[in-house]
Amino acid sequence: MNHDELRDWSKRAADWAHAYHATLRDRPVRAQTTPGATAARLPERAPEEPEPPERIFADFEDIVPDAMTHWQHPRFFAYFPANAAPASMWAEQLANAIAAQAMLWQTSPAATEIEEVMVRWLRDALGLAPHFRGTIHDSATTATLAAILTMREIATGWQGNEAGLAGQPVLRIYASAETHSSIDKGARIAGIGQANLVKVPTDASHAMDTAALDAAIRADLAAGYRPAGVILATGGTSIGACDRIAETLAVAKAHGLYTHVDAAWAGSAMICPEFRPLWAGVDGADSIVFNPHKWLGAQFDCAVQFLADPVPQVRTLGLRPEYLQTLGHEGPDRITNFNEWTVPLGRRFRALKLWFTLRAYGLSGLRRRIRDHVAWAQELATVIADLPGFEVVTAPVLSLFTFARTEGDAATEALLARINDDGRVYLTQTRHAGRFVIRVQVGQFDCTREDVMAVAEVLRDLT
Ligand SMILES: *Cc1c(COP(=O)(O)O)cnc(C)c1O
Repeated sequence: MNHDELRDWSKRAADWAHAYHATLRDRPVRAQTTPGATAARLPERAPEEPEPPERIFADFEDIVPDAMTHWQHPRFFAYFPANAAPASMWAEQLANAIAAQAMLWQTSPAATEIEEVMVRWLRDALGLAPHFRGTIHDSATTATLAAILTMREIATGWQGNEAGLAGQPVLRIYASAETHSSIDKGARIAGIGQANLVKVPTDASHAMDTAALDAAIRADLAAGYRPAGVILATGGTSIGACDRIAETLAVAKAHGLYTHVDAAWAGSAMICPEFRPLWAGVDGADSIVFNPHKWLGAQFDCAVQFLADPVPQVRTLGLRPEYLQTLGHEGPDRITNFNEWTVPLGRRFRALKLWFTLRAYGLSGLRRRIRDHVAWAQELATVIADLPGFEVVTAPVLSLFTFARTEGDAATEALLARINDDGRVYLTQTRHAGRFVIRVQVGQFDCTREDVMAVAEVLRDLT
């Protein structure tokens, strides 16, 4: 395929995408396939000779859509939202066409500077203090890893990168038992070790028990460990648990620890001032991550990390071999080289989709969607609570709640299987306080109140 053919086939792809989105409601939300079925339809080996675009496209249409779970389906209420607003998809096409590496200012000046401006726009839109700067990662997992590596380097006096961890005191980091598995992964990759990620118990409101945090840090100090940092949650994935940010930061700061707030899902809602009490005190954090690729309309991948002071993270992740020096552009310190803020060297031009999305919908359009999602989720929770044989197990946090059958886990699990075989809506499960519960999160960009209420209709039909 050459660029002339690409022009024609891009138009075909755009037409296909339009029809796909227009007919999504008619498709089952979850893939109706079995493990191995797709692989079995592909040849054993890569083709020796070029194949014509017609055949490639025909196979795509034949094999792929039916074997996909449709994350953009308006009745996708599983896991978390992963929106791709039309304006974001449009920007991604252009970023794809330019296909730049946004690792240094010099390799992508517009990408670097638009990224800086988008981080500022979002900081202000979320109501964060003006001292925050930031960068865009692929995922919250990577942003959290960057924060944990920074905790490690500060706590080892910058010896982890240089000398390795052998011979260092054993580091400890702290998070609530409700936090996301990306924190476990970060602790493992950073060489801190799963055993040294202390899961602090939560209280009745599912927030980290700050007295227990303080006691854990003191006990670790007495035992010769070296505490390195605390990770706080605003909107945990399982049930939307929120730590009391101000109170928890105060404990961390009293021990001089670096702090990171994981608001990957809930952070987008903070464009609405009325939800900001959920993370009151967040301006005191060292690092904050949220995913515009979840609830703000930006297509995956787009995780924004705000940093009160970028210097420790850049000192942790930045490397400047001779071939990455950017002398000649006002000196290396006057420009931002974002690869020094992130784990990978190569970086996509992710800021473009934020620029397009924020402009195409405006903050008011994005706020309206989030407010609708929250209101509809709360309405649905009320309806489910009144259905015979159902109970709402955890009340809505923003647009996320859980429910179960009153008969117990087996009945709830069987119902979930029936719901997802039915295909009209897609829900997933979690375990809360030992119980198997069904999660509902409302956040798809194009969903309507009727789409949300369809959950209650499906529950009535299937019980
Ligand atoms: C989704 C989520 C993550 C992981 O996000 P990725 O961008 O997929 O790495 C981490 N924490 C919370 C609270 C989340 O909701």
